[in-house]
Amino acid sequence: MKTNNEKINLLMEHQRETALLRSSLSLLHWDQETYMPPKALEWRAQQISQLSGLIHDREASTQVAELLDGLGCTKKNPQGQVEGDLEKALLKQSFKGYHQANCFPREYVMEKSATLSQSHAAWAEAREKDDFSIFKPWLEKVMDYAKQDAEYLGYEEHPYDALLDLYEPEMTTKELKSLFDPLGKELAELVNQISQAEQVPGDFLTKAIPVKQQEAIGLRVLKDMGYSMDVGRLDVTAHPFTIELGPKDVRITTAYKENLFETSLYGTIHEGGHALYELGVDPEIQGTILGTGVSLGIHESQSRYWENLIGRSRSFGQYLLPQFKKLVPEVFSGLDDEAFYKGINRVSPGFIRIESDEVCYSLHVILRFNLELALLEGRLAVADLPDAWREESKKLLGVVPPSDKEGVLQDIHWSGGSVGYFPTYALGNLYGAQFLRTMEQDIPDWQDQVSQGKLLGVKDWLQKNIHCHGAAIPAGELVREVTGQALNGQYFVDYLKNKYNQIYRLEP
Ligand code: ZN
Repeated sequence: MKTNNEKINLLMEHQRETALLRSSLSLLHWDQETYMPPKALEWRAQQISQLSGLIHDREASTQVAELLDGLGCTKKNPQGQVEGDLEKALLKQSFKGYHQANCFPREYVMEKSATLSQSHAAWAEAREKDDFSIFKPWLEKVMDYAKQDAEYLGYEEHPYDALLDLYEPEMTTKELKSLFDPLGKELAELVNQISQAEQVPGDFLTKAIPVKQQEAIGLRVLKDMGYSMDVGRLDVTAHPFTIELGPKDVRITTAYKENLFETSLYGTIHEGGHALYELGVDPEIQGTILGTGVSLGIHESQSRYWENLIGRSRSFGQYLLPQFKKLVPEVFSGLDDEAFYKGINRVSPGFIRIESDEVCYSLHVILRFNLELALLEGRLAVADLPDAWREESKKLLGVVPPSDKEGVLQDIHWSGGSVGYFPTYALGNLYGAQFLRTMEQDIPDWQDQVSQGKLLGVKDWLQKNIHCHGAAIPAGELVREVTGQALNGQYFVDYLKNKYNQIYRLEP
């Protein structure tokens, strides 16, 4: 008869072996996105599908079921009969992971994945041709799958809760609405005020900066942030991403555009923030189900923390500008700190989420959340989605996209079956602003440090308070533990008003 401790060790060992397979799968993905020769695709697809199957079988195996059962885990009490917070968290997550791996019938999974790959192709064609009718029948299927997924996964109040839980565990639709409804109103009003104010110039933002110089500055910033090339890499891809290949191997990518250095630099900083989170997890839980970011929202809070709260602060500008002056004097020599700071923070409501500024970004997310919820609840038909998109865009951002390509067809997420994912982007902003308030109390001179390029104080604070826990503390609880209170959207609103009232000289 094994003791509980022995069973827990067996469970962790099983998860670490699965993590070896999963990180091998990640390596195949990384290679595919970076250096794989094009004709390797067919074999690579087979490698990926084979390995994915092995991983799924391990996660859904009777060995896991027996261990969880032996530890007293049940639907009502997923954390079983164990002592210790870490052990309880491990069992709770493991039980959930096991349920998620087993709750879908095999034929359903296969049929869905075949449909989704066609739906992705249809979306790409629809976007290319700017013709929503090509994607419409597929999006209808995607929404049917989303409804069916929610039934298989199970939920208490709202089917959207089940979908949201895949990306932002324990967050509910009700809580999201109570955060996003007031946030949408506040931000729309702020955007409106800014639109009527005198605009800030930013000519330097579209000047040509050679890729070599952009890369040099990106690498320097990453190094100062504490992201070491001994445990990472920076490569170039069409769409930037972060991928974990092991506890000491978390790689990032970026995309360079000569005339838009801001996009690549801040993209690099953003991914660097994601990478530091994964690298900062306590070694004791690495490789287990707890050894990764706790939710996509908290993950985004870490990337956007570096990208915006730190990276677009006045003091970060004071650290960056001298480097630009040295490397690219022809563009930056006449620029002062104030003009640089205002330029990298100018606000302009547009149609495209990923090109959006700090103020408008969350509005793009709220728009998508409102619409996908209406689709799921049956209040909106897919056929009416493009019109609803335009209406919502007008209401929230004050602009109407001239085409579906720049509107409803711009994002890949729905085509791949991801419903419930978008909210995590805006949650990242909310979590981050609340964390910042606490960090400001803990490190009163953080701005002085940052202006001198000493970024490790910020990194260490995030590591100690957030990264080290991995997924051991649920997001909502983590926020309470770090900041002393539940998630409160007002911190983000206050942060933005404070900053942008000053930049645009608005009446407070
Ligand atoms: Zn991100």
